[in-house]
Amino acid sequence: MAAEVVTVVQLDAWMRLFADLVAEHRAYLTELDSAIGDADHGINMDRGMKAVVAKIETEPLTSVEALFKSVGMTLVSSVGGASGPLYGTFFLRFGMAAGESEQLSADSLAKAFRSGLDGVVARGKAEAGDKTMFDALAPALEALEVSLEGGRHLAEALEEAALAAEAGRDATIEMLARKGRASYLVERSVGHQDPGATSSALLVRVAAATLA
Ligand code: ADP
Ligand code: MG
Repeated sequence: MAAEVVTVVQLDAWMRLFADLVAEHRAYLTELDSAIGDADHGINMDRGMKAVVAKIETEPLTSVEALFKSVGMTLVSSVGGASGPLYGTFFLRFGMAAGESEQLSADSLAKAFRSGLDGVVARGKAEAGDKTMFDALAPALEALEVSLEGGRHLAEALEEAALAAEAGRDATIEMLARKGRASYLVERSVGHQDPGATSSALLVRVAAATLA
């Protein structure tokens, strides 16, 4: 569906609604992190996304790259936890891949997502099954790419991506953590849902609601 485009206005809405959803799930994300981390994931993400909204509100929406440069830099600088630099890198790379355009084709959206995820891996070295945000984001991207290649509309492809992210999030419950603070618990990390995979599933769910 090459004619379908995502505008910078929609991408801005994606970030604002993600901030709303993170605020709504702040206590839940922190509770998940209290089981296998240091009980701050909801606090970190809420602080970061509130700072993002405050920042992008003051700026004109000139290009996808400029928007995500602001988002990424703000997350890197305002969040102390591992998730700040990781999400920050995701959005910085996403924006760089998208470039100075005011809109993206569906294929360019998937390419930007791929770039963002490559950035997360370059920074955090997570692999499939390590019980991290990667385990929600990677299946989501895979579903997005496969759906678009199969000629699906963007709305359908993003819905598939959101479902895949949620399935990936759920699959982290049985995983043994091999990255981040949760890895210190070794076997005791099993049986708990990963907080970062949970916030990432929210990110993809909001994408399905705003980008198509
Ligand atoms: P911190 O662990 O520093 O307290 P947060 O609690 O905000 O930071 O975020 C924890 C989440 O970050 C984890 O649930 C996991 O999904 C993600 N994470 C941690 N380390 C990595 C890594 N190396 N690669 C990818 N994701 C990671
Ligand atoms: Mg934490």
